[in-house]
Amino acid sequence: MSASPVEIKRKKLGKKVDGLYHPPGSLCDGSLPRIDIDIRLTNEEELDTLVHECIHHTLPYLNEETVIAAGTMIAAILWSDGWRKTDDNATGL
Ligand SMILES: [Zn+2]
Repeated sequence: MSASPVEIKRKKLGKKVDGLYHPPGSLCDGSLPRIDIDIRLTNEEELDTLVHECIHHTLPYLNEETVIAAGTMIAAILWSDGWRKTDDNATGL
């Protein structure tokens, strides 16, 4: 598998500041090829969050409502199809 075009960091994030965490538990700073995800999210929340932030990274011109709608739908489809994090790709933090 090729390397990810963005670095995904999992850590305990602080409180939401100026709307930067959207959805709660993540941060995608458009100036950095990096997505931060709070380690306290459930696996389903993490999937939704990761898809959401990937959409922001890939299509930065989309507004927040569009990203939420697309991300939530894609994550729900993936989750209902059985996509899950496994021990092989879990970070174990
Ligand atoms: Zn967002």
